[in-house]
Amino acid sequence: MNEAPRPGLAENLARVEDAIDGACRRSGRSRSEVELMAVSKTHAVPAILEAIRLGVTLFGENRVQEFQAKHAELRGLGYSLQGDGAAATEAAPAVRFHLIGHLQSNKTQRAAEIFSAVDALDSLRLASRLNDAAQRLQRRLPVLIEIKLGHEDLKTGIPPESPALRELLDNLPEMPALELRGLMTVPPYAKNPEATRPYFRELRLLRDRLAAAYPRLNLGELSMGMSHDFAVAIEEGATQVRVGTAVFGARPPAAKAL
Ligand SMILES: *Cc1c(COP(=O)(O)O)cnc(C)c1O
Repeated sequence: MNEAPRPGLAENLARVEDAIDGACRRSGRSRSEVELMAVSKTHAVPAILEAIRLGVTLFGENRVQEFQAKHAELRGLGYSLQGDGAAATEAAPAVRFHLIGHLQSNKTQRAAEIFSAVDALDSLRLASRLNDAAQRLQRRLPVLIEIKLGHEDLKTGIPPESPALRELLDNLPEMPALELRGLMTVPPYAKNPEATRPYFRELRLLRDRLAAAYPRLNLGELSMGMSHDFAVAIEEGATQVRVGTAVFGARPPAAKAL
C-alpha cells in the first residue's frame, strides 16, 4: 500500500489509449463512446494522484474498507469525490471512484457515502439497502447490474434470464435513490482474449433484449473488458473498460487474489 508511484505510468496510459483508439477504429466506433476506468485497487494514493495528473478521471476500487482510507486522504487534499458529477475546482479536478467489487450488505451505508457509483449490484436485497442508504444521504446513486456469464463457481453476479434478474429490474423503478445505468460483467479468465469475445457479445445481446423489454430503464452502459481483453470488449460494444494492471503495473503478490 505504500509503494511509490510506479515508473512508466505515462507510458502505460499512452499504450492503453492507443489500444482503445485502435479498437474503436476497427469497430467503427467513436472514441467518445468508450470511457477508461483505471482500476486502482491495492495501489496507494500517490499512484492515483499521478494518474489524475495524467488526465484520468474515473477509477475503480473493489473494497469498501480499502477505499475508505484513500477517500479520506484524497478528501484531505481537496478532492470532491462523492457525487457522480463531483464538482471540480482548479486545484482538484473532478474524479470519480466506482465500487466494482462485491458489496456486503453491512457496508452499504459506507459505500453510498464514499463511492460515486456502485457497479456490482447483484441482488434485490442489496439494491433495497443501497436505496435506503442513498436516501438517508439525500443523493442519487448510479448503479450497474453485475451479470454472471459463463461460470457457475463465481459467487457474485446475477445469471442472465433468471427470475432474480427480472425481479430486480421490475423493482428498480420503485427505488428512487438508485439510478440504473447499465450492466457489467467479469467473464471467466482466458489467456486468449478471443475466447472471451462470446461473453462480451452475450452481455451486449442481453442488454439489447432487456432494453426492449424494459423501455423505461436506462441500460446504456456496458462495463466489460480488463487489461488483457479490453480491446475485444470494445469491439463488442463496451462503453466502459476496467483496466488495472495495464495502467498501474502488476499488483503486489499478496493482493493478487483481490
Ligand atoms: C481487478 C479488477 C479489474 C482490473 O483487472 P486487470 O486485469 O488488472 O486490468 C477489472 N474489473 C474488476 C471487477 C476487478 O476486480
